[in-house]
Amino acid sequence: MDQDYKEKLEKLKEELENADAVAIGAGAGLSASAGLDYSGEKFEKYFGDFAEKLGIRDMYSGGFYPFPDEETMWAWWTRHIYVNRYVSPPRPVYSMLLDLVKGRDYFVITTNVDHQFQKAGFDKERLFYTQGDYGLWQCSTPCHTRTYDNKEKVVKMLYAQGFAIGENSELAVPETEDGRTDFSQLSMRVPSGLIPYCPVCGEMMAMNLRADDTFVEDEGWHKASAAYAKFLQEHKDKHILFLELGVGGNTPGIVKYPFWQMTHDNKNAFYACINSGEAFCPAEIADRSVCIDSDIGAALKDLSAE
Ligand SMILES: [Zn+2]
Repeated sequence: MDQDYKEKLEKLKEELENADAVAIGAGAGLSASAGLDYSGEKFEKYFGDFAEKLGIRDMYSGGFYPFPDEETMWAWWTRHIYVNRYVSPPRPVYSMLLDLVKGRDYFVITTNVDHQFQKAGFDKERLFYTQGDYGLWQCSTPCHTRTYDNKEKVVKMLYAQGFAIGENSELAVPETEDGRTDFSQLSMRVPSGLIPYCPVCGEMMAMNLRADDTFVEDEGWHKASAAYAKFLQEHKDKHILFLELGVGGNTPGIVKYPFWQMTHDNKNAFYACINSGEAFCPAEIADRSVCIDSDIGAALKDLSAE
């Protein structure tokens, strides 16, 4: 462990112990550190047919692909939803994070849509998912602002493609003799009869993800948004630790810039950032900040071991 890294971890540990409250802001880097990445082995295992036939390179870009028909689009999305939202992450990064703040006055704001905070046991009342949830569908129009749990229908559509649900809820695939996915036994389409339609207007359902102005902010979203605002208001002059984890450059206006601004405006606040390759902060708050360039899981592990 190099000296600089060690000193930064000690500083963060001290802040975690002494702060009145912790605001956690999390982005894609946190789930990537937990092993929920959008490319590589997992992509090959579940989307090898989409890669070969349609040239899709990873799960992220697949979300924007102009699929030839709705049956193919839903085959893609049901796989994507399941392997990111309903399986357990390979590494316990979220649980390690929970251990650091359990019993404390904390609040989480995240752009992640994979539900991993709740799965790890974070208090639902202390979470704000700003960009939606893979586990919810909404009307595509949208004609009304309710969202709908999709697990049951997703699983049905996966069975129809030839998948099975294995032990520990993982998505099981038919295998070839050498242990690879046997895509000849999987369909890249779901039966038309399983495509979900809005129970109110009859239009097709859509993912509850903030991609454009059709995103539905349901009752739960508004409640969480208000709870987050209240948390910030209550701590605006207090010793609060803004802990930013794996926030990239895609949506800096949701976590990163507000965290910098609030640290700047509150002289009792402290800012910490853990991000592999992108840990930095403005000079104005540098004396009340620590930026750790590291894998998040590795840093949290070292932090717990200190
Ligand atoms: Zn509708």
